[in-house]
Amino acid sequence: MDGVERHIDELRTRIHDLDEAYYGKDAPTVPDVEYDELVRELIALEAEHPDLTTEDSPTRQPGHARRTQFSPVAHTVAMMSLDNAMDAAELRAWGDRITARLADEGMVGPVAYACELKIDGLAVSIRWENGRFSQASTRGDGKIGEDVTANVAVISDVPHRLGGDAPPVLEVRGEIYLPLAEFKALQERTEKENSEAIDAGRKAKPVPVNPRNAGAGSLRQKDASVTASRGLSLWCYQLAPIPGITLPESHTLALDRLASMGLPVNPETRVFGSLQGVYEFCDHWVEHRHDLPYEIDGIVVKVNDLALQQRLGATAKAPRWAVAYKLPPEERNTKLIDIQVSIGRTGKATPFAVLDPVFVGGSTVGVATLHNEDQVAAKDVRPGDTVVVRKAGDVIPEVVGPVLAERSRGLRRWVFPTECPSCGLGLIRSEGEAQHRCLNPQCPAKRLARIGHFASRGALDIEGLGEQQVALFIELGLLNDVADIYSLDFERIGELRGYGDKAVDNLRAAIEDSKARPLVNLLFGLNIFHLGPAGAELLVDELGDLDGIRSASPEDLAAVDGVGPVIAESVHEWFAQPENALLIDRLVAAGLTTSAAAGATGELPQTLAGKSVVVSGSLDGYSRTDAAEAIKGRGGKSPGSVSRSSFALVVGESAGASKLVKAESFGIPIVDASRWPELLQTGEIPK
Ligand code: NAD
Repeated sequence: MDGVERHIDELRTRIHDLDEAYYGKDAPTVPDVEYDELVRELIALEAEHPDLTTEDSPTRQPGHARRTQFSPVAHTVAMMSLDNAMDAAELRAWGDRITARLADEGMVGPVAYACELKIDGLAVSIRWENGRFSQASTRGDGKIGEDVTANVAVISDVPHRLGGDAPPVLEVRGEIYLPLAEFKALQERTEKENSEAIDAGRKAKPVPVNPRNAGAGSLRQKDASVTASRGLSLWCYQLAPIPGITLPESHTLALDRLASMGLPVNPETRVFGSLQGVYEFCDHWVEHRHDLPYEIDGIVVKVNDLALQQRLGATAKAPRWAVAYKLPPEERNTKLIDIQVSIGRTGKATPFAVLDPVFVGGSTVGVATLHNEDQVAAKDVRPGDTVVVRKAGDVIPEVVGPVLAERSRGLRRWVFPTECPSCGLGLIRSEGEAQHRCLNPQCPAKRLARIGHFASRGALDIEGLGEQQVALFIELGLLNDVADIYSLDFERIGELRGYGDKAVDNLRAAIEDSKARPLVNLLFGLNIFHLGPAGAELLVDELGDLDGIRSASPEDLAAVDGVGPVIAESVHEWFAQPENALLIDRLVAAGLTTSAAAGATGELPQTLAGKSVVVSGSLDGYSRTDAAEAIKGRGGKSPGSVSRSSFALVVGESAGASKLVKAESFGIPIVDASRWPELLQTGEIPK
């Protein structure tokens, strides 16, 4: 064997193994883009060396044949794959090939193209005889599939009796898929079961990584009642030209006919008279794929005229009259280099993944939160693992889970550190809490986060004093606590690189301005555990000034309408600490606003007037009531569920999947917890 032959052979073996994992186990070991690259390389090599092409090459067969638990079913009409177009140029090349081929046959004139969503699921062929559901099979190798009749029978979208004018035998091709809401629910269920299993010393199950594989796995179950519990759905996209069936003139008329018999046909199909319309359709869905409550991985473009389809025919693997325009991938695999812990302003210890940076979903992802100890355990991700990273649209990047097949031997389960990575004192996880905390008030990481929060937009809003500057000033010994901001050594700062006279003047002015911020902002800026801006507002409204709040007993504080005993206790305890009393004295001496009357504590700017903002999950510093009050305080509404008229969905920690999915499907902007103060302040969706 020479070098090329050996390489071709290696590629075929590799693709075969990947097919086995993908089709056989519903558990791919590489993301689709990587698989597609291998196939394209093989196609190119086979084109260059036709003598090395073999009948059993994966470039010549859709899927692959194998023995499975299901009985084999021979397809009356082959179930084919689709050729891919990765960009507009490849789409044009496909269009050119079509027109050239038709011209060769003496057929000139415009071609109409039907564009459909390419549902990311599992292809099935379903038969109805005399209007009754009779058989369902998977694609298999295109000629022989698996008999999944019992499993498809329990999917509620699949009619057991056809309506309308059903022919004696009808065979339809369609895609079984798992809607996003069902996928998220399955993920959450598995994570919960894993936590329980780990607590009981049992092994965790792999968490479903994406709807496609979870859907395929849900369908290919021995026990159809498991399939029934998963909430699978169906879109039908092709009327199979089996003997005895009369076909209409066009593909879209065939789809209309399927719909008239009560079959689920996707409503987004459009027909265009030229490729220009096709490009626009594809561009539209690149932008809007997340508006759908299910996943798509491309657009299928089909010649609409069925007579022309016949003329064009097929290769061994795919029809010539259709092409799949692939959407950019949103999932990549990368190395999990490490799991580290960051310490927030209230001492909350949050584990996060340090990743080998990977470009996914439109940006490079190098870190991703892992939320808390239980989440890491439930996903069972281990430093050294290859992990699946997903970033869909504006949603925060997520480590979905490990690729178990790639795990090296001896990788150990990650253990939450017992010591704070910043100060070295013990991290505590209290009974009933998901979060670990560092309780050291002097912890440097907390100091950085606290001063950063004090200067942030939702609090004292000091421009030019972001986290980076705070970190630098702490390092130089210029800042130790928030009161130091008001006695900064500007001369020293002026000597630093990047600080000209103008920058120093601007910083000085911004700090001066902050003294006039309302008392509510000061109170929120103090980093009192459990106290969010809405709670701060209630206290200021009721107790009038800083002295009133400072000297109030826990009972007085709890008596304020909307302030519960937890906040009351926390506020009281905070002011009772001698070092905090000193801090307050210094802030007062610096001239910050201390009474409700001064500043604009009464009426907040009505930034959210008439807007409805839904909050899901917990936001740092805000209880559920706090968040709702903060929205109302700015003229907005905060209903419990997402609707088409919602202005935004704010997602915090452990946000509910159903709200997220609904917001995505309605195209409602999703705002990350860290940007939420900005939303309150400006009433605009943070960019
Ligand atoms: P394909 O998924 O690119 O296209 C064909 C399939 O599209 C059809 O079988 C059908 O199931 C589906 N489809 C969805 N909506 C459709 C519509 N409206 N009209 C027609 N068909 C529609 O091709 P394939 O041969 O099924 O699979 C190859 C793809 O599978 C690869 O491109 C890769 O993305 C993925 N794959 C990945 C791995 C891996 O290891 N990650 C392994 C094997 C395959």
